[in-house]
Amino acid sequence: MAAVRTEMDLESQVKSLMAQAAGDAEGRGAGGQLPRHLREYVDGQRDRSALDPINIRQLIVPGAGNRRIFRILLTNACQYSCDYCPMRAQRSLPRHALEPEKLARLFMTAFRKGWCDGLFVTSGIPRSPVWAMDRILELVEILRVKMGYRGYLHVKALAGAEPGQVERLVRLVDRVSYNLESACADTLATHAPEKTLEAGLAALRTVKKAVEAAEAAERGNASRAGSSGTSTSRSTQSGTSMGRARKPSPARPGTASSATMPARSVLRAGATTQFVVGLGKETDRDLLTFTDRLLKEKLIHHPQFSAFRPIRETPMAGRAETPALREHRLYQADHLVRDYGFKTEELPFGADGSLPLDTDPKLQWALIHPELFPVELRTASREELRRVPGFGPVSVERFLAARSRVSGIDLPTLKKLGVVVSRAAGFITWCGRTLGNRFRQAALFDSVNAFPQKTYEFSPGTFR
Ligand code: SF4
Repeated sequence: MAAVRTEMDLESQVKSLMAQAAGDAEGRGAGGQLPRHLREYVDGQRDRSALDPINIRQLIVPGAGNRRIFRILLTNACQYSCDYCPMRAQRSLPRHALEPEKLARLFMTAFRKGWCDGLFVTSGIPRSPVWAMDRILELVEILRVKMGYRGYLHVKALAGAEPGQVERLVRLVDRVSYNLESACADTLATHAPEKTLEAGLAALRTVKKAVEAAEAAERGNASRAGSSGTSTSRSTQSGTSMGRARKPSPARPGTASSATMPARSVLRAGATTQFVVGLGKETDRDLLTFTDRLLKEKLIHHPQFSAFRPIRETPMAGRAETPALREHRLYQADHLVRDYGFKTEELPFGADGSLPLDTDPKLQWALIHPELFPVELRTASREELRRVPGFGPVSVERFLAARSRVSGIDLPTLKKLGVVVSRAAGFITWCGRTLGNRFRQAALFDSVNAFPQKTYEFSPGTFR
């Protein structure tokens, strides 16, 4: 096991552990690029102070709205040596570990000052998975029970954690992630031999069962309270796994206090899992077919994709990085399945199982289905509208509400309703008249970026 440095001051340790837990701007921008401030940091061109909000990330949390998340590793020490990982034991890297109590106090200070609304915490696996998971649970229980924190908590369940630990975690946090890393058992055996797909799926099933059990218990409590005529609040009904009720969270000036947040339901933000895209030979079709299976089994709320980056001093340092645009296309395709009613098998995979990089998958699907276009806006159903490039679930609803009130529709009106008219142009008609010119679509295609061989110090998004 790598030695953990203890002499470093707290600020330096926090700086390191926050930087190494950096997010990767999930989904990135339209060109699949990291935002500039994060790119400069990853490329080593920029230094930052410990509490610089590099890791305070905006996130839409189901049931709680927009949240700024404080991201940190409890420790970057690990006994394992996954080939792709910047924290692998066999890599020279200053190792740090925070005491759970210290991190809890640090986070609560930032929370009370109004710098963040929630915490994401992950960890390497020093000593043993059970020991490392116990440290995370200690942190979570200090926050929830001792400090009465009721705000957003996203915590990683570690590979090798015991089912009982995962169950405890589920009852205390808003989101759990368990990173499967790959959809292929052989890829994992080659690059992360301590992890197996089977164990990962078992952990996600434990999460699902724990949520179901906790929800059944809550329903039982509610019906008992109802039949005895008492009106017990939900927050006092749902005690922690340690059997104690949570105190209301302290308010802080200038932001919505967590006391005003909706009552916590069990794991209200669900479970997620991450795949390292390009780790093995899995194609986009393989990844999306696999995630579809996880979604249908209700094991995850959504998948996360992290493009492989070769890290200095790792066995994969010489491998080409996965284009960030591929990660972006996977997120777009996943949204088509989860939010737009597409089936995975309908996605526009090429013969080699890849999504095209130069066109977004919805536009590509429309281009290879000329028989379905143009769509007549006057009569189109909700489902048909959702498949038109430039229309999203929100703009479709706005359009349907407006349609019955207007006698005519043009592109400027559609734009006001939130339609990306440059994408919809040429795919729609109103009373048989085509709106816009489809040939202009060609100018919208994102160009494929060139990716020169490069190695990185660490890879944002590795730890989610
Ligand atoms: S991926 Fe996780 S288990 Fe593997 S070396 Fe990195 S921190 Fe350790």
